Amino acid sequence: MPIPGLVDPVPTPRDITPREDGRVDLLGLPRQRIAELFEAAGLDAKAAKLRGKQVFHWLYHRGVTDFEAMTDIAKTMRPWLAERFVIGRPEVVLSQHSSDGTRKWLLKTADGHEFEMVFIPDADRGTLCVSSQVGCTLNCRFCHTGTMRLVRNLTPGEIVGQVMLARDALGEWPKGSMAGLDDDEDEGGYSADGRLLTNIVMMGMGEPLYNFDNVRDALKLVMDGDGLALSKRRITLSTSGVVPMMVKCGEEIGVNLAVSLHAVSKDVRDEIVPINRKYGLEELLQACADYPGASNARRITFEYVMLKDKNDSDEDARELVRLIKQFKLPAKVNLIPFNPWPGAIYECSSPERIKRFSDIVFEAGISAPVRTPRGRDIDAACGQLKTAAQKLSRAELDRLAEEKQAALG
Ligand code: SAH
Ligand code: SF4
Repeated sequence: MPIPGLVDPVPTPRDITPREDGRVDLLGLPRQRIAELFEAAGLDAKAAKLRGKQVFHWLYHRGVTDFEAMTDIAKTMRPWLAERFVIGRPEVVLSQHSSDGTRKWLLKTADGHEFEMVFIPDADRGTLCVSSQVGCTLNCRFCHTGTMRLVRNLTPGEIVGQVMLARDALGEWPKGSMAGLDDDEDEGGYSADGRLLTNIVMMGMGEPLYNFDNVRDALKLVMDGDGLALSKRRITLSTSGVVPMMVKCGEEIGVNLAVSLHAVSKDVRDEIVPINRKYGLEELLQACADYPGASNARRITFEYVMLKDKNDSDEDARELVRLIKQFKLPAKVNLIPFNPWPGAIYECSSPERIKRFSDIVFEAGISAPVRTPRGRDIDAACGQLKTAAQKLSRAELDRLAEEKQAALG
């Protein structure tokens, strides 16, 4: 979908990436589309619909990639499917472990573009940080991803594929035989309790609202009760402020919203978050006030990166409070210590400064926790993502891949 007032510079691939063997990859397709493909391949409409529903369940709810494992589909039907279709995954180029338990994967699309996803385990939750684009067109001055030259939108399959890969890696697919397609509960004893992957944040590489349709279609599969079945309350989409798409995001996706505010004056925000020159602060805050579904129970998160002598004064903190109150926003503030990367022109504010800033906002009755940086040692923290392929030589990548294999046994 074109974004009003903007010529979208990013090519969006078709929903089905052509494969050399002529088979069609079903990953990322909705029920209806799967049924249409089955019908086009020769099944009658009724059979196509039923098979579509069954395959959808195995694909997204069970994480099955082999048609042979789909036990409620007739034995003779399974080779017929396998001749025409596949269920793929993004290719893993490299996976890295941080000393704090954070994991980062370098992934590759079928046409050779590399992107990253990050898993952040905590005591009470596990958060997957998902990418929406290869690179980003927006060039925020403190963000490493913004310096990547190559940009392409990820397809729904490449986006939902990240969540599915994470479940593969964490061994989190429900076990047991199929309980019947109409049951919400399956007999595998699968529940949200004790799950490693509990939350998703669209905070990896790219601006998700510049790839709206694909992000929406992927998140629909994640939220579908017969799909990955994750509640929209456990999903957060972060935007740098693509104002015209925010209301659509609330209406058509309905997930929690995070906004990369980072500055409270036009001058500073124009400089560090350049999209501000197109959609200014007032417009952005009004769009937050109008965000469908925002309430005191479901607050909007304002992300604020702490940059030394740039946006971190007492005055900045007080202006932030004033703006939140002026627009009557149900808001919380997330203070992010700046994560450095080679060539960055900023420094992180001192811990005392961050504490003082947090206290001012907190004393005004607004929650303002400081986010603990995670996975800095493997460049997995906020704003550090830039595909390793652009930093490492091929030989280094091969060596790391070998080490990974050895470590996995
Ligand atoms: N493009 C989206 C989502 C991805 S970035 C957005 O900008 O909101 C996820 C968060 O990390 C954003 O708030 C972003 O501003 C922040 N970030 C980017 N670079 C950073 C850095 N070097 N240190 C700390 N946070 C950073
Ligand atoms: Fe893009 Fe977000 Fe990085 Fe800005 S902060 S360059 S919008 S990924």
